[in-house]
Amino acid sequence: MPTIFTRIINGEIPCYKIAEDKNFFAFLDINPLKPGHTLVIPKKEVDYIFNVDETTLSLMLPFCKKVAEAIKKAIPCSRIGVTVIGLEVPHAHIHLIPISVMSDMNFANPKLSLSRETMTQTASAIRTFIPNDLL
Ligand code: 5GP
Repeated sequence: MPTIFTRIINGEIPCYKIAEDKNFFAFLDINPLKPGHTLVIPKKEVDYIFNVDETTLSLMLPFCKKVAEAIKKAIPCSRIGVTVIGLEVPHAHIHLIPISVMSDMNFANPKLSLSRETMTQTASAIRTFIPNDLL
């Protein structure tokens, strides 16, 4: 059965899309730690990040960089934190989180549930800074 993230890529489940290219897809985390918290996934479904083939892995960080630069321009923060957990959804993904203090990255913090309007505005603000070929 396809993962929930594959179903998002296929458009079967809605998301707040940020960017995509032929290998990767980026969208807002539905329950962010901070507004602008974005997930980057390979389109090819692989559960564990270190089982992703090396060519795809080597392209993933440059893609994340473009997304992170856009988040940094759109969301007030000191920098973009990067982490991989993968305990909840069995489809490799990198979390990009706008942070200002260490505790902003704490996954034990309660997750946010933002309004549809806020999520739409946040995604739109980030997309303003995404290169056209990734929209
Ligand atoms: P992890 O697998 O790294 O522990 O966490 C998975 C992340 O995916 C969580 O932060 C969770 O909020 C997010 N998530 C789970 N299901 C969905 C979904 O259907 N849509 C979106 N946009 N994010 C999801």
